[in-house]
Amino acid sequence: MNTGFADLAQLAAAVRDCRRCPLAGLRTLAVPGEGPTQAEILLIGEGPGQQEDRQGRPFVGASGHLLQKLLAGVGLDRSQVFITNVVKCRPPNNRDPLPVELAACAPFLDNQVTLIDPLILITLGRFSLAHFLGPGARITQVHGRPTRLGDRLLLPMFHPAAALRNPQWQQALEADFAQLPGLLAAARRSRPPRPDNFTQLSLF
Ligand code: SF4
Repeated sequence: MNTGFADLAQLAAAVRDCRRCPLAGLRTLAVPGEGPTQAEILLIGEGPGQQEDRQGRPFVGASGHLLQKLLAGVGLDRSQVFITNVVKCRPPNNRDPLPVELAACAPFLDNQVTLIDPLILITLGRFSLAHFLGPGARITQVHGRPTRLGDRLLLPMFHPAAALRNPQWQQALEADFAQLPGLLAAARRSRPPRPDNFTQLSLF
């Protein structure tokens, strides 16, 4: 399903006013996501944390610092990728999003994927993984294994917050990020070039 917005600015405005699920009454600010409208890479986390809820921006706390470091490790700045979450409002005390919240918010994410049309989708954590591969996909088994989804690649990874708690997962996250330059080059070869006004990312 898809919310049917024709551009990302309209979609972001709708997210900020959204009251489709009970998280609307608990948030400070909704967090639609941010990045270039035609990003080649779309990263999808779980939901906003405390800092994100206060600032209305994704991945601005400790997880965001790690994500920025991982992106820099492959020659990318966060301004070059689009970053969002499966639920756009903060679940209280950072609890897991509930099925009713995931279902209510999913059309916004599907609409973002359609509008951005990225070459590579990176799921960060099990909730965004489940959105694309279903509840049976185990992150410990599939992280770092690219899967073709139509004309794009899905690359599942651990969530940076989980990696901050577990040094082993941080190593796995670094190894999974190291695949990005090669995967991006392969993804570009397998799809026709973007319109003239599109600027390709340069990676190491
Ligand atoms: S989490 Fe999503 S569906 Fe729920 S209120 Fe926020 S934007 Fe709307």
